[in-house]
Amino acid sequence: MTLPGFNDNPTIQKFIGLKKFFRSHETRISRERIEDFKKFSKLINYGGDEVAFDILGSLNFGQATADSDTDIVMYTRCEDGKMGECGLENCYKISLFKHMFLNLVTFEHNSHAYKLEIVDCINLNQLEKDIRENDESSALLIRFCFYRSICRGVNRKLLHRYENLISERLPLWESITKSVEECFDGIIVSSQHTYSFHKYAGRLEEKGIKLPGSMAAKIKDYLKQ
Ligand SMILES: [Zn+2]
Repeated sequence: MTLPGFNDNPTIQKFIGLKKFFRSHETRISRERIEDFKKFSKLINYGGDEVAFDILGSLNFGQATADSDTDIVMYTRCEDGKMGECGLENCYKISLFKHMFLNLVTFEHNSHAYKLEIVDCINLNQLEKDIRENDESSALLIRFCFYRSICRGVNRKLLHRYENLISERLPLWESITKSVEECFDGIIVSSQHTYSFHKYAGRLEEKGIKLPGSMAAKIKDYLKQ
């Protein structure tokens, strides 16, 4: 089961609609990269550990090209049940996984390897604790719900376990919803985001795919905000 969703939030609904549209015209490079993440999480699984990802940026919209960077959120349980935040600088596992992933990419794509940008890391030990304690002010928990609402997950089975825990606690979900909506509003006003939509629409047009009128209207409507 996934998170309850944002049925009352027209902006988030619009965003998800646009994402679906762009994804239905996914590039070959996007498909290949998603496969890399799936392979990697299976590999880690065979080794008895677990990892999952949320994909951001152009790959989230299925519009990655050869020179796109890949922006991701990495989910894993820190070693020895360690709590707190994990990052490239302070967590051995994150840097190890990044290193292993880049090896896989080099092996699979040789000279067409690409850059991996870890935008955020979520320590699932701490996430579970925050959920069980109904900590509605947990930044980690809010970030998790935000990414889960707008990104593209890989190894979603692992993520659903935590989404279930949240969904079972409706009062917790309701208070987090507000914070997630604030994150979203923050993104919408940033110019970077607006630029991305123009860029993706331009890429489709280059391939002779014209946006349906209704979709073009939706994008305009979206960008107006
Ligand atoms: Zn760690």
